[in-house]
Amino acid sequence: MKTYKVLILLILFNMPAMSQSKEEIKSIIDVQAKRSYELCTYLHQNPELSTKEFETAQQMAVELKKAGMEVYPAFAGNSVVGILKNGDGPVVMLRTDMDALPIEEKTGFDFASQQRSENSNGDEVPVMHACGHDIHMSVWAGTIHTLVAFKDQWKGTLMVIAQQAEEVSGGAGLAIDAGLFSKFPVPDYALAYHINPELESGTIGLVGGPVFAGVKTVNITVYGKGGHGAYPEKCIDPVVIASRIVLDLQTIVSREISPLDPAVVTVGSIHGGTRPNIIPDEVKMELTLRYYSEPVIEKIISAIKRISNAAARMAGMPEDKLPLVEVDPEDTPPVINDDSLSLMVKELAGQTIGEENILKTSPAMVGEDFGKYGLTTEDVPICLIWLGSTAPEEMKKLKAEGKEPYPLHSPYLNPDYKKTIETGIEVMVHNVLGLMKK
Ligand SMILES: [Zn+2]
Ligand SMILES: [Zn+2]
Repeated sequence: MKTYKVLILLILFNMPAMSQSKEEIKSIIDVQAKRSYELCTYLHQNPELSTKEFETAQQMAVELKKAGMEVYPAFAGNSVVGILKNGDGPVVMLRTDMDALPIEEKTGFDFASQQRSENSNGDEVPVMHACGHDIHMSVWAGTIHTLVAFKDQWKGTLMVIAQQAEEVSGGAGLAIDAGLFSKFPVPDYALAYHINPELESGTIGLVGGPVFAGVKTVNITVYGKGGHGAYPEKCIDPVVIASRIVLDLQTIVSREISPLDPAVVTVGSIHGGTRPNIIPDEVKMELTLRYYSEPVIEKIISAIKRISNAAARMAGMPEDKLPLVEVDPEDTPPVINDDSLSLMVKELAGQTIGEENILKTSPAMVGEDFGKYGLTTEDVPICLIWLGSTAPEEMKKLKAEGKEPYPLHSPYLNPDYKKTIETGIEVMVHNVLGLMKK
């Protein structure tokens, strides 16, 4: 790996040969970007929920076959792996995610999603690509086709994965557990995109080190002693205990965690009771926690347990009926970009779309399971790149009105599809050409 890094540094200071063919590559990228836009509008109209990406996975497998890759469909569920060996050289992995969200689209686009699907509880829900995974797939496919067209300009192994279930954080872990890095070559570099509506289309956002937060889900069941709402003195009210817990949880980040350590504790759901005149037996709460370091998340979890137990004891609950605090074993670790790979991407992308379009972004508190690819014993350097997705004229208009672009997971998410896809392909093609240059 080290040899390649030295090679890359040499390449970065020796660019004339590359610029000769840049025009040629640009003309192919333009053709691919148009095709990818068509693919994107199709995918947008046909979104599928996490773990149910059957048709989408098939579509991705077709793209890889068209590109002449060895294709491994249904890898660890619906994920699809593609391999293209093109001589000796580094192994570069490109990852896209495939899943959509249970959100009813309200954009009013011609190609808006009308799809509905069954969720894991068996309920029918609307489905929308509200996290830009349709763009990720289209850029991924366009990048692969362009790289295949310029096979004579790079050497090494192109490894690609269309990953299932990013939104529920299971996909990356399943692919790794199924032997992604033992059945296939271990990547020297792994790259992925996520669109970012806060950045203008035509730009990318980069940060070395922490980029996405770790995510943990905690469920709390607060027990009480139920009874008639008119006789509170004969009951122990779990609604009151839960309310106290919700308020006291707010002091974890503000009073127990250093202001220099990013962390979030959010109670996203709270349910208890059925009627106004019944004091229920229990209240259930669901929390999402965000963090960047192990000591911080350990401290948060221990504080949640302490605060929950204290509130129940204060209300007079016996020791065997203290709140049940369950930490979901499904874990999304923080995404930590490899510093030297991020630097290489910065240089290569700067040479492609201009340094002024490479923006330094701050770590975000949202999660992404791409981080898992960088945390295995193989120690794969990873880099997740933000892909700007709001049209500059739209951004200008919003700023003038004091508004912000619709965020990820919004039913109104309105990326500048064409420009975002074009920039995505252009930057990723030149990243890979740079990393695998002959
Ligand atoms: Zn998402
Ligand atoms: Zn996403």
